[in-house]
Amino acid sequence: MASTFTKMISGRTAGLLLASLGAGAAATGYLMSDSATISAEARKKLYPPSADFPDLRKHNNCMASALTPAIYATLRDRTTPNNWTLDQCIQTGVDNPGHPFIKTVGMVAGDEESYEVFAEIFDPVIKDRHNGYDPRTMKHPTDLEASKLTSGIFDEKYVLSSRVRTGRSIRGLSLPPACSRAERREVERVVVQALAGLKGDLSGCYYSLTDMTEQEQQRLIDDHFLFDKPVSPLLTCAFMARDWPDARGIWHNNDKTFLIWVNEEDHTRVISMEKGGNMKRVFERFCKGLKQVEHLIQERGWEFMWNERLGYVLTCPSNLGTGLRAGVHVRLPKLSQDPRFGKILDNLRLQKRGTGGVDTAAVGDTFDISNNDRLGKSEVELVQMVVDGVNYLIECEKRLEKGQDIKIPSPIAQFRK
Ligand code: ADP
Ligand code: MG
Repeated sequence: MASTFTKMISGRTAGLLLASLGAGAAATGYLMSDSATISAEARKKLYPPSADFPDLRKHNNCMASALTPAIYATLRDRTTPNNWTLDQCIQTGVDNPGHPFIKTVGMVAGDEESYEVFAEIFDPVIKDRHNGYDPRTMKHPTDLEASKLTSGIFDEKYVLSSRVRTGRSIRGLSLPPACSRAERREVERVVVQALAGLKGDLSGCYYSLTDMTEQEQQRLIDDHFLFDKPVSPLLTCAFMARDWPDARGIWHNNDKTFLIWVNEEDHTRVISMEKGGNMKRVFERFCKGLKQVEHLIQERGWEFMWNERLGYVLTCPSNLGTGLRAGVHVRLPKLSQDPRFGKILDNLRLQKRGTGGVDTAAVGDTFDISNNDRLGKSEVELVQMVVDGVNYLIECEKRLEKGQDIKIPSPIAQFRK
């Protein structure tokens, strides 16, 4: 067996392989499949991690800043119980050196265990993305008591729509970058069955993408209800477009104010939204709906991925904790032309996007303004920050309209350490 094996591969490679694994392994046939090729695992070990280290010299995402050859060497050959590897986690960050509008994270989890098995890289990335939050020592707070929110109603001359979203993952099933078709369909089945239990103003229907016409899909996208097709390289390089549109869909209530995306970037995205500036009502519906969804999922013997250090576990490390993005579409024609706009947003811990979603530039003077943080602060705290921050932006806009000066606010304190 060993002699067949050595003939099959070149002398240098064989030498390395036999040296690293021992001739015994080869003699048992461990290295050979029926088609006389070496196993993927053995092939990897032919090369030291240093030979596999990605070229990150032109990169500026969080993963690229944190990944050292030493960390890579420690983690390269580890796998999670679902066989997910470090290289699969970081591929999106290797292939996408930077994003034109926001600093991306550059890596995703394939399953809940990824965050532990590859903690040596996830921890520093989480710390970088979440302003120093230490996932080894800190605990993440959850607070879904919407009644605690104050001043949650915006001036509708400026705010066109209000939205709060989060994600939730079903424990025991691989996340979208890694899931098999069967697992993806299982997520859809579990979630859709549970959602059928929603009652009253939250009751609604599920619309599978595979049953929708192209026009129906595009209509929902244009109306900001449905996720875009997975054409962004951030998603495709994270393996999230596989089998599209199999097992993807959107559930929504009759008013289209409470919506659940199934199998986009996360198993589920839970969204409350409506036109106008009533963020308080949007957040109330979000909290009520989310609690009911969790209850319905649990009734069927499933639960969400959660732990006290990371909060709710989602695909992208940027969404850990609350997974919450509360945002408005807001018109700021004067402030957005002011050179202080960027600094004001930073100090208020707010992020701006184009109104077509994360991959779009702002068109005209309307922006999607939302919280930048997700982890280390509760849902109530984050929505309150958006309410206070957006009210401040509107005040600035009004002052500029009157020819008055504006001030850069002092930076908001980060989470309590
Ligand atoms: P998410 O954080 O939910 O993934 P994206 O930036 O990918 O958000 O946008 C998803 C969709 O949600 C897009 O169609 C976007 O226009 C819409 N959207 C986001 N925020 C708002 C808002 N405040 N009002 C209306 N639509 C919104
Ligand atoms: Mg998105």
